[in-house]
Amino acid sequence: MTNVTEPDVAVIVVAAGSSTRFGGDKLGVLVAGRPVLERAVGAMRAALPAAPLALVVRSEQVEAAQAHWQARGVLVVAGGARRQDSVRNGFVALDPDDDTVVVVHDGARPFVPPGDVARVVEAAAAGGAALLVAPVVDTVKRLRADGTVEATVPRDRLARALTPQAFRAGALRAAWAAAGDAHWTDEAALVERQGGPVVAVPGDTRNAKVTHPDDLDAVAGVFGRRTRVGQGVDIHPFGPGRALWLCGVELAGEPGLAGHSDADVALHAVADAILGACGAGDIGEHFPPTEERWRDAPSELFVRRALTLAGERGWRVSSCDLTLLAEAPKIAPHRPAMRARLAGILGLGEDEVNVKATTCEGMGFVGRREGIVALAVVTVERE
Ligand code: MG
Repeated sequence: MTNVTEPDVAVIVVAAGSSTRFGGDKLGVLVAGRPVLERAVGAMRAALPAAPLALVVRSEQVEAAQAHWQARGVLVVAGGARRQDSVRNGFVALDPDDDTVVVVHDGARPFVPPGDVARVVEAAAAGGAALLVAPVVDTVKRLRADGTVEATVPRDRLARALTPQAFRAGALRAAWAAAGDAHWTDEAALVERQGGPVVAVPGDTRNAKVTHPDDLDAVAGVFGRRTRVGQGVDIHPFGPGRALWLCGVELAGEPGLAGHSDADVALHAVADAILGACGAGDIGEHFPPTEERWRDAPSELFVRRALTLAGERGWRVSSCDLTLLAEAPKIAPHRPAMRARLAGILGLGEDEVNVKATTCEGMGFVGRREGIVALAVVTVERE
């Protein structure tokens, strides 16, 4: 059943500024591991998943932006000389009905809670125009041209303007028509000037605009990185007529392990650890040994598939520690090659991957040289 009180919504993210105060492309700078602009668009998407979204970029960046964003359902639009022209270009590209609520957000604001977006949309749907605001906490002084203080400005009725700002499309059209080619700093100011009411919605004070490099650390603190851990254990017996593969490296001339695939016990443990960390089951479930296509398969395939499954769940592998229990062969001479290969498969630096080995001092099935045990611990991260 359709909810008739829910307005149609369209989103414009403005990212066509020159970043002069920042001294470089601030929107591509990483904040807690992801570019500022990705986070800004992501915040709008998370709050308004069904809304069409226009991303307005500088005209020379349109092609690159299209290659990156189009497949993700984002409409890339060339910006204009001033911010207000860029908003207008995004609006024209979306061509919303007059009743649609158009949400305008700065591409340099990587953090805005979904609840704030919902409240500003609701206020604009009811009143025609609304923006998020934050209180002014410092005492405010008005200065003379010579740098001395002229007066202390009462701050109880002052607020900082944030984005998103939201407007009924019809109200924006009317304001534009009345304003002609005047200049305004944001669309809320445009509507104010036309005498239209603009509702101020108190928003999260951490919704900051990245303007100077110094802003990045403060904004990054808002995003909590999540880490999870998975373990994997595997055991294979030695078998006749087999090559020995460990961590995707062939240990030529050594007795091999028996198994359906290439029996790389190390990579099996790593694949299971990845699946474990992201709650995706185990290797037997994804690669049943009953399936002929996995016969003698290089086990690297299993690890790569586990990485894909992790990625689909939003997880990225950040470290791997592997321990082999083997009486023979001697692992130490092969360790650098195994570590490098494992890091390559996982897409990690070698300092994020560790391979170590121990014997079992002659005890048990490992001690009797019947097989090899692999134990892996993997960490995964999600922003
Ligand atoms: Mg196995």
